[in-house]
Amino acid sequence: MTDPGSHDAPASPALQLSEVGMVYPNGFTALSGLSFQLEEGGFLALTGPSGCGKTTVLQALAGLIRPTSGRITVGGDDPASANHVACCFQDPRLLPWRTVLENVCLPLQLAGVDRADGVQRSREALSRVGLADAASRLPRELSGGMRMRTAIARALVVRPRLLLLDEPFGALDEVNREQLDDELLRLWEEDRMTVVIVTHSLREAVYLAQRVLVMDSGPGALVADTEIAFGPRTDSTRTDHRFNDEVGRVQRIFRSERAS
Ligand code: ADP
Repeated sequence: MTDPGSHDAPASPALQLSEVGMVYPNGFTALSGLSFQLEEGGFLALTGPSGCGKTTVLQALAGLIRPTSGRITVGGDDPASANHVACCFQDPRLLPWRTVLENVCLPLQLAGVDRADGVQRSREALSRVGLADAASRLPRELSGGMRMRTAIARALVVRPRLLLLDEPFGALDEVNREQLDDELLRLWEEDRMTVVIVTHSLREAVYLAQRVLVMDSGPGALVADTEIAFGPRTDSTRTDHRFNDEVGRVQRIFRSERAS
């Protein structure tokens, strides 16, 4: 395995899907003719109603499942062999017997990174998500928000070029969720990695992303692909009428595409 800390020259686009279809083994068609691409450093939100295929797309991008038709590349490579990709899911999937530090260190350990280097990088990643003081705790001693922060630190520790997030904050209360959304934006601004986030919330999609793809089911396909037309998010963004206007605009696109 390649050391996840050493980046090669960036390939463009960061990801590309061409006419992707997915028929599950039971015969259910989850995706049909899905095409889009994303440049390096972009922040894309994938949204739409439950069951429209968002997770299927993310799993295919992560190389966890292989589409039954079409083609996906991540940094020009097959997703199953792409380097520098990290995933976070709604369930933080921490190992309960390992401390926070040891959970964050795990991907580096598996990649054969030197132990002292791995521990140092893990401590840095924990500091970045505000968990420097929780390194020696076990997952059961953490709040839901802290568990998710640990999962984000574990994703960041490999210094990913592509971060894939599937409803990462969906199980959290609104205050925690908004705080983690802000932290995610800060981390993205610092690292300029490419981010794809799945969320069923149009508001969260518009708040976070530079571009929002809206999907609908029957079978899963894109119904809208829109740039988000306002600048850096600040403390007042969520109450700013331009943000709410933008959410309304994306909602109207979705409704009109659905009705047509
Ligand atoms: P979303 O993330 O938008 O809620 P999913 O990608 O999870 O949607 O699922 C899309 C559709 O594919 C759903 O109807 C779901 O029931 C179906 N599906 C997901 N995984 C499987 C599977 N392994 N076998 C059969 N159908 C599946």
